[in-house]
Amino acid sequence: MNLINAIIGVSMFCLMTIGATTLFSSDLIRLFNVFRPVLLDGGGKQCISSLRERDVKFRTLGNQGSDTCPVMNAVRVEGFKNIVASSPFVLSCPTALKLTNWLQDAQVKSFSHMGTVNCRKMRGSGFLSEHSFGTAIDISKVDGADIKSDWGSNSFKGQRLAETAAIACKHFSNVLTPETDRAHHDHFHLDTGLGVGCVSSQLR
Ligand SMILES: [Zn+2]
Repeated sequence: MNLINAIIGVSMFCLMTIGATTLFSSDLIRLFNVFRPVLLDGGGKQCISSLRERDVKFRTLGNQGSDTCPVMNAVRVEGFKNIVASSPFVLSCPTALKLTNWLQDAQVKSFSHMGTVNCRKMRGSGFLSEHSFGTAIDISKVDGADIKSDWGSNSFKGQRLAETAAIACKHFSNVLTPETDRAHHDHFHLDTGLGVGCVSSQLR
């Protein structure tokens, strides 16, 4: 099943990449938007247990959203042990788990976010954003370093952002940074959707 998902994921990614440079038929976009939710996996009780084991403070919300934008096995994350989040947020359990793994792996002490769940299309395209499924989070600050002002700088803060973005590539399917495009000039977009790793090749 994982192999099938990977094949479908790579195929979808290739189609979307081609679509960025050519005109996409509206039928293909519609097809993607119908089938992307089918591939969602909420992780079940095992995911919830794994989140508990990592000392995350959260509430389970069950399946949320709509037919178009389902959020599978949603959790409201209210806090972490030894990590300060700017405010609580909702994510699909597997994405919350990957976020926790990244935060712990990168030894993040604090972070600010700009939102998670939002049923909408990707900017400039008809494809549904991963935010639609609670599988994405936008991070604006890490350990006091501001992505808007510190990204690309040689300062300690700039280096910290580059380091945490690079580590995010180990945990997320897509990591979009200010180097990706203008739309991400002030945040990291981290998602667990269909992807083949970091889109930005110049994270360091
Ligand atoms: Zn985003």
